[in-house]
Amino acid sequence: MVSEKMYELGSKRSVIRELFEFGKKRAEEVGAENVYDFSIGNPNVPAPEAVKKAILEILEEENPVDIHSYTSAQGDLKVRNTLAEDINKRFGTKFDGNNLYMTVGAAASIHICFSALADKGDEFITFAPYFPEYRCFVEAAGGKLVVVPAKIQDFQIDFGEFEKRLNEKTKAVIVNTPNNPSGVVYTEETIIKLTEILKAKSKEYNHPIYLISDEPYREIAYDVEVPYLTKYYDNTFVCYSYSKSLSLPGERIGYIVVPSEMEEAKKVYAAVCGAGRALGYVCAPSLFQKVVAKCIGVTADIEIYKKNRDLLYDGLIKLGYKCVKPEGAFYLFPEALEEDACAFSEKAKKYDLLLVPGDDFGCPSHVRISYCVTTEQILRALPIFKKLKEEYDK
Ligand code: PLP
Repeated sequence: MVSEKMYELGSKRSVIRELFEFGKKRAEEVGAENVYDFSIGNPNVPAPEAVKKAILEILEEENPVDIHSYTSAQGDLKVRNTLAEDINKRFGTKFDGNNLYMTVGAAASIHICFSALADKGDEFITFAPYFPEYRCFVEAAGGKLVVVPAKIQDFQIDFGEFEKRLNEKTKAVIVNTPNNPSGVVYTEETIIKLTEILKAKSKEYNHPIYLISDEPYREIAYDVEVPYLTKYYDNTFVCYSYSKSLSLPGERIGYIVVPSEMEEAKKVYAAVCGAGRALGYVCAPSLFQKVVAKCIGVTADIEIYKKNRDLLYDGLIKLGYKCVKPEGAFYLFPEALEEDACAFSEKAKKYDLLLVPGDDFGCPSHVRISYCVTTEQILRALPIFKKLKEEYDK
């Protein structure tokens, strides 16, 4: 017999995937130009030219055996040193390669951190709206995910609700800023308050409460600073990914930072290596380790997302939708036009307008719109959003 838990995870498609598959089917039936698919967070901006150039240079100039061979389990040291140097330059930190663990994107990074930390019964706190995979990773690591309800006025943190959920069993808190699905960036004020509470509670409980910063959208921020969390709190893991910043989601590359300032940093880094080993996430793709080291300072064209954000946000507000203005990532998270976001999403589906209900993100009053689509799709979709609104206004 198979594991019931794994069977359940593998046989139930996520709502996002369901909608995405529905969109593909409808495109065949009615033509792609009549489907408004905002379901999935797949970057539509191509990887920058520098990525192609780096791949070609590596293929032409490096020893063909080395290019594709195993690196150290935690990644090539030269690559890790190069990335650490860049982080130091940008954020005034003092890392070196030994603070970094290369792995297959942010998903693996987060999962490794949960597994490196979790003992049976440990609790991990996150803030709604949150990335649904956290639950799956925390539970696979033997922990329990505790969710702080969303502060829907601005999607910053409801500290009252947060403090109610902190206790001796809290092992770590995970934040995602810029956020999927709200697009909100936590302000420095929020970060300072959060880390002050964590410092006080760590002292009270006599053990560190770690902070995990899940940041695949760090580079996709529009005219705002995204605070670098290790500067505010020593016990912070940074989980970074190139999936969105370089539009390389299929290449599976990213890293974890374990700062030397962290309590028992060497032991924690060893636990990260252990979790990477236990999960089979060792030796991230070696070609792409080299590629990202050659693409320091390069990002995909973020301006396209900003243009889409402005067009869609302004358009929806004008139509009477309610939405917190996102300052990053490529998602908008407006209020559904009825209490039940699933029912609202079903109604939108009748117009072939595909919006993800917020239930799985822990915020069932809202829907997610992924605007990593063509600007032309947004222009075509605005009259459909208008029709949908009119249906509710009747
Ligand atoms: N965390 C968040 C908040 C995400 O939105 C995603 C992907 O969409 C991930 C993690 C996983 O990213 P990766 O492709 O780097 O594994």
